Amino acid sequence: MTSQGLSEEQRMMRQSCRDFVDEVIIPFIRHNWQREWVMTPEDRLPKEILEGAEKVGIRTLGVPEEFGGIELDKSSEVQTFAIISEEIARGDSGLADKLVQNWKVSVLLRNLAPPHLQKKWFGRLIEDPQFLLAHCLTEPRGASDRWLPYNVPEAAMQTRAVKRGKEWVINGRKQFISNGYDAGLYVVYANTNPKVGMLQGTSSFLVPRETPGLTVARCNETLGCRFMNNGELVFEDMAVPEDHLLVENDALGKAGVYFRPGKIIQASKNLGVGVRAFEVTADYVQNYVQGGRILIKHQAVALRIAEMATRIEAVRALLERAARAVDENAPDADTLCNMVKLFASEEILKVAQHALELHGGNGVMLDFGVEKIFRDAAIFLHMDATTDISRMKIVKSMFPQTAGKYAGPEA
Ligand SMILES: Cc1cc2nc3c(=O)[nH]c(=O)nc-3n(C[C@H](O)[C@H](O)[C@H](O)COP(=O)(O)OP(=O)(O)OC[C@H]3O[C@@H](n4cnc5c(N)ncnc54)[C@H](O)[C@@H]3O)c2cc1C
Repeated sequence: MTSQGLSEEQRMMRQSCRDFVDEVIIPFIRHNWQREWVMTPEDRLPKEILEGAEKVGIRTLGVPEEFGGIELDKSSEVQTFAIISEEIARGDSGLADKLVQNWKVSVLLRNLAPPHLQKKWFGRLIEDPQFLLAHCLTEPRGASDRWLPYNVPEAAMQTRAVKRGKEWVINGRKQFISNGYDAGLYVVYANTNPKVGMLQGTSSFLVPRETPGLTVARCNETLGCRFMNNGELVFEDMAVPEDHLLVENDALGKAGVYFRPGKIIQASKNLGVGVRAFEVTADYVQNYVQGGRILIKHQAVALRIAEMATRIEAVRALLERAARAVDENAPDADTLCNMVKLFASEEILKVAQHALELHGGNGVMLDFGVEKIFRDAAIFLHMDATTDISRMKIVKSMFPQTAGKYAGPEA
């Protein structure tokens, strides 16, 4: 990757992150390929890895300086998130998932949480390298389709919150939540007015892990990104103090501060997986001999390398444009965010497929490590919206009066 257009701060952060990945993460993954399959989720990722992330200063991005965080230049914050998350995901996509949830939720908290709770929770995050944050929207009966949105009561969240005295009492469940298994603090979305559409009747709450009535029901065993422990949560008469309400009723509209950088970060992690696929494949085809010649001398192989590189550069170009649009609050930022998240997921999966195929039999052997890249790439199709829902969101943002209206009531 070139250093064109990067600030001094971005260049330095990228370099220390790159060193951490090359010297710690990649050797760890290579020598411990069984580790992601350990069936006690809390033992999968050694504690020293998050401590290492702390040392290079990438664990608490997004936390305001007054609460001990490393504040990035706001005019290019999302672009910096993209640069760093790409680098980490080049080492391991699951580790990147773990960390970026902290950044994304921190941005949300600094925008929406009352100052005394920011002080408390940012304090916890800063002092404990293992502390994780999570963002809980998805439920058994609704996920990214909520963002279309079908703004009618029957499509609303099933998780309900009711005000009782000075508390909010929450009942329901959330599924597929990143860091859901091991987070210390959750942001939970719940219906607070079943009579209206979800844009008017959804609220968000801060829920500390130790809240009575909160059960972490399971850790999902995922196909890829396995160092991030994805979890399921159940809430039974779970009461949180009234000041833990972040946004009342229009929480979905206010969640843009989470989702815009979020989509950019998804795409950039995805790009990091693609870059790793390219690195290992470029190395392999220059060294592995078949038919008396190194692989790249066979033209069919060389063409695939060209295709991998082209797809990666196309994703990078769109990513840079979309990240800039978010930092500049451009009118087309939402559309571009969805475009790049979607485009990256499909393009990088093809890059990973080339990597898998060019490694032949080695490509599917667990101890060789290339199949992991393919598995990690596949996860991105489903994170932060499926590909079809992303397409719907793109076209709806371009043609809000007509696109996707078919499924709703006739005007
Ligand atoms: C690794 C991972 C991490 C995740 N992390 C989080 C997290 O931190 N927080 C969180 O809240 N969620 C998280 N999710 C959930 C993720 O956002 C959802 O899985 C995703 O939005 C799809 O929802 P679903 O799984 O319920 O699929 P479904 O909604 O059941 O979709 C099934 C199929 O139906 C299609 N479909 C569904 N509804 C419609 C519709 N209205 N119109 C057209 N097609 C439709 C979908 O495109 C898909 O092809 C995570 C998921 C994964 C895999």
